[in-house]
Parts: sequence; C-alpha cells; structure tokens
Amino acid sequence: MSRTIGLIGGMSWESTATYYREINELVRLRHGGLVSADILMHSVNFDEIVTMQKAGRWDLAEERLAEVGRGLAGAGAGCLLICTNTMHLVADHVARNTGVPLIHIVDVVGRDLVAAGMKKPLLLATRYTMEQSFYRDRLRERFGLDAMVPEAQDRTVVHDIIFDELCCGIVKETSRKSYIDIIEYAKTQGADCVILGCTEIGLLIEEKDSVLPVFDSTKLHARAAVDFFDGCLEIDAVAA
Ligand code: GLU
Repeated sequence: MSRTIGLIGGMSWESTATYYREINELVRLRHGGLVSADILMHSVNFDEIVTMQKAGRWDLAEERLAEVGRGLAGAGAGCLLICTNTMHLVADHVARNTGVPLIHIVDVVGRDLVAAGMKKPLLLATRYTMEQSFYRDRLRERFGLDAMVPEAQDRTVVHDIIFDELCCGIVKETSRKSYIDIIEYAKTQGADCVILGCTEIGLLIEEKDSVLPVFDSTKLHARAAVDFFDGCLEIDAVAA
C-alpha cells in the first residue's frame, strides 16, 4: 500500500506551505538524517474556490475537490488530506469519490481534545465552519465535545481577518489582539480550550498568546499525515 501523502492544497497556499513544513519537520524529528516525507500536492487556484463558497455552490466545490483527489490518487497518493477546515464541508463527497482514504481534520482534532480531557472548546474558524453545523456536529457526535463559537460580531471579525489578511500573507498586531480578546471572553463563558479551526490562524496565534490551551488544526492534521507515512495512524479518521 502506498504511504505517499496526498495534499489537496492552496486554500490558501499560505497554510499549505505550513503543512509542507510541519510534515517534513516532524519526519526529520522522528527519523533524522535526510529522511523526508513522500508527498504529492495539488495546489488549487483559491480564488475559484472562494467564488464557489460565496455563491453557496458547494456542489461545484465538492466535485472540483473530488476531481483533484482522483488526480492525486491516480498519481500514487495513498491517502488524502484536504488542507482546510472549511472545505471539510464537502469531505464526505471527496472521501466517497476518490478511492483512497481521507484523513478527516475534525476527527484528528477531536481525538486530540479528548485525549487532553477537554470538553468545551471555542471554535475559531471561517464563518462557514463556525455557522454551518458540519464541524460542531461531528465534534459532538463522534467525540462528545460541546464546541462554542464567538458571538455574531466577533465571528465577523474572525472571518474577515482570515480572508482579508491571513490568506493574503498579512499578519497584524491589532488582529492578534482582537483574537486574544475573543479567546479571553470565551474563557469567561466557560470555554476550556481553543481550536484554531482554520488552517491560517496558526500564523497569528500561538500557545503563548492564549489564556486557553491551543489546538491548532494544521499542526494536528500534519502530524496525522506523518503517522500515515510512518504506518502508525491509529484513528478511524481514515475512512474511504
Ligand atoms: N484555510 C481556511 C480553513 O481552514 C479557510 C480557507 C477556506 O475557505 O478554505 O478553513
């Protein structure tokens, strides 16, 4: 069976670059020397995907990502990662239509939260991920986690910073402060940790910035990819 990691990337490329680095740094840590991960990546034109998101054309988006996934599978990928939380909205379709296992980001994050004894995470993500139910439902149904999201006004702040700044490679101190304030408020409302549920947020917020324990979906997803590469991925996140 192929151990080649297939990355459906480019959403945005800023965070896909983080996946590439995280995966290879962890492989270096585990194996040393010149060992690096066997990776196939298709980095899409994000603007096309954003147009579909804005139009609510998830039907077009799911077919596009499935097409990309089939290409990676045909080129020899042994698994697939969709390198964005938001596009897990169409993960089931991609998983069913590519013929190789998909490592689902919510399952990777959920497993880690449970292992750490967390119960009520604050979910910071795009508007799609915070406001549609696919992400929170899966956390609840599979892991018994009761995820909360910021209030409406703060959700707009979080979403706009992702698309207007982080996806464009812009990191502002004022935006970091906004996120820090939102996390602090969530703590007063009972959150016991924070999920960086958008693959760019790690560019802005680190553990040291947060009054709550941080679970970075990008790092956790990248680690699961390395576990797959090493043949030791134990979770049922791998589900074709
Ligand atoms: N990378 C982001 C995420 O993890 C947002 C980009 C997108 O809409 O896919 O959700």
